[in-house]
Amino acid sequence: MSNLKMKEAALIYLDRSGGLQKFIDDCKYYNDSKQSYAVYRFNILINPSDVVELYAELGNHILHHPLKAAQVFQSVCFIAVKTLSLIGQLQTETQINIVLKLTHLPSLPSYCLDLCEFPVDYTSQRFYIMQGIVIAITTVTKYTQGARFLCSDEACPFSKGFQYVRVHVPGATESATIRNDFLCNLCSSSLQEDRKFRVLGDKQIVEIIATEALHAFQGYSKNQPFRFQSLTIFLRDELVNKMNIGNEYKIIGIPTCVKTSQTAVCIEANSITLCHLKVPSGISDNFRCLLSLTSSSCWKFTAILANIFASHIVPPGTYNLLKLCLLMSLVQTSDRNKESEDCLDILIITSDTLLIDRLLNFSINLFPHGIRHPGSTEIFPTLSRNKYGTGAVSIQAGSALLAKDGICFIGDLSSHKKDKLEQLQSVLESRSITVYIPGKKFGDDIDQQMTFPVQCSFWSFVDMDSSSRRNTQKNNTLIGQMDCSLIPANLVETFGLLINCNESSPCHPHFPTVQHTLKKAIDPEGLFYFASKQFTTEDFEKLLAFAKNLDVEFSLEAERMIHGYYLASRRIRTDFIYGSKLSASALKYLVSLSEAHARLNLRNKVLKEDVLIAALLFETSLTLKYGATVFCVAPNAVFPFELYNEEYLQQRDLYLTQCQKQLQQFIATYGPGTAVFTNDE
Ligand SMILES: [Zn+2]
Repeated sequence: MSNLKMKEAALIYLDRSGGLQKFIDDCKYYNDSKQSYAVYRFNILINPSDVVELYAELGNHILHHPLKAAQVFQSVCFIAVKTLSLIGQLQTETQINIVLKLTHLPSLPSYCLDLCEFPVDYTSQRFYIMQGIVIAITTVTKYTQGARFLCSDEACPFSKGFQYVRVHVPGATESATIRNDFLCNLCSSSLQEDRKFRVLGDKQIVEIIATEALHAFQGYSKNQPFRFQSLTIFLRDELVNKMNIGNEYKIIGIPTCVKTSQTAVCIEANSITLCHLKVPSGISDNFRCLLSLTSSSCWKFTAILANIFASHIVPPGTYNLLKLCLLMSLVQTSDRNKESEDCLDILIITSDTLLIDRLLNFSINLFPHGIRHPGSTEIFPTLSRNKYGTGAVSIQAGSALLAKDGICFIGDLSSHKKDKLEQLQSVLESRSITVYIPGKKFGDDIDQQMTFPVQCSFWSFVDMDSSSRRNTQKNNTLIGQMDCSLIPANLVETFGLLINCNESSPCHPHFPTVQHTLKKAIDPEGLFYFASKQFTTEDFEKLLAFAKNLDVEFSLEAERMIHGYYLASRRIRTDFIYGSKLSASALKYLVSLSEAHARLNLRNKVLKEDVLIAALLFETSLTLKYGATVFCVAPNAVFPFELYNEEYLQQRDLYLTQCQKQLQQFIATYGPGTAVFTNDE
């Protein structure tokens, strides 16, 4: 009785939800094709809340006995096919393959599958929801959705018709659908597959890890090898190629146990949704107050931010240029626009690697997708044979793809092998990586290749001491040019920002760091550094998360200035042998730097004041790479004075206003529309 009522409820639901009409349309497609299949596959969209509202028992069935619920819909649909003559070729109910696609699950703890908990319940064969980050995907292979078998005894009535139709059910392996030891129920002869009716579908296997597991990549794992347990997800048919490495997803699926060479719990996915990071609605009161106090200037707020940032690691006032660049790089990491390449790669030249390492580690920890590349693994994707014996090749993410929409901190640049550095250079230039899958090696006839976009900024440093120890000083360095001959010049060029960060430089005296460290050691709880108490790490996390999600646009003035500076700079850095030293990516970096400075100021409009900071930072970096030119920028141009109080900030504003005038003069002299050099472009 209850089964009949359930079928009735299923029909009412199909009718009300529009599912029936969709089913009829799908049938029409099959009918028109005139092609006979072993099974006909239909997706039915189910909103569990609506079904529960309509008829609780059916709702309960869908959530807790999905395979049985599918059977209810299967017979309802079969009746519909027969009474409305929807598919002429279809003969038996078993030929209908119903897949119930859930819109969501009740938001109750019993429906959540925590990837960190053990053991996973795979016996109840019901729906769970889980969340995780993709760390590996396989190539797409085929699986059998359904097959028709016939009795081998021609005298047996089951040697014809569709008595024996086998359909893939969640969690089943290929051998459950197709094998050669099935027997006829009627005469016990062996069954043989009628191959021309076989229906194939697409299959892909994805590995995910709990979001929390990403923390293993943050902090100080150094060269300690580590591994974490991943969970395998089976994607079939319309779900194939819907998940990308590095993204976080919510997955509704049925946990099952797959027995191959080893026994493993896998999830048969039903539906997947991409997760977006939560954007905070605002910033902390302290920052809000600071922002309003500095609203008269376009430069003060970011200067104070740089000054107080990470004040428990380096004393306020030191490494301000680097800290400003780190903050700017951090706010340029967002998933808001897949098309634009907002990245800001930073290469630091330093003799103080310990402090720099600490500072960078702290900075990437402010972000969910900040990855510190562990030396024991690969930066870029690697290939392996898929352990489920499906013939598919598994592509493991590597640090760069895991750092999607974030930062990939790869440590000391000189610690990487030459071939890896060449790979890095090509990735920095193209912002993508192509993985070649040799068919021969993985038992396939054809070679394949897959290309992944690399959507993260790279941070790295070069140890100046070891560089000069191992290399004799170059004699022909130009004024302002940095000697970093340890690293291939081409690679240095591909980093958007090159920063010289040495205590010996005039703006970073040794003394404050020593004093800072001593004070901290004597009284770790002491209030020596007011700033770190007033602006906590959480405040910075919130500020950065808010800033990076701001949409910014250029003012006309800023746009003109950025193009003017770019073209002028190209001109003066052109020589007759090698052409211009500025590539097209220089403009991209200038745009990114200007946007970053506006965002860090929590502004939606990029102003010419932002372009000035971008130009100064970029010119400083160019000077280190190629030496100074007529647009002469001091190494400490962005922070000419130490920032202690309002008066110094005021002086800095005056100084920057002067720089702005110089920049405008430079553009007027060498920029577009002027004919200084006639044979350069
Ligand atoms: Zn038989």
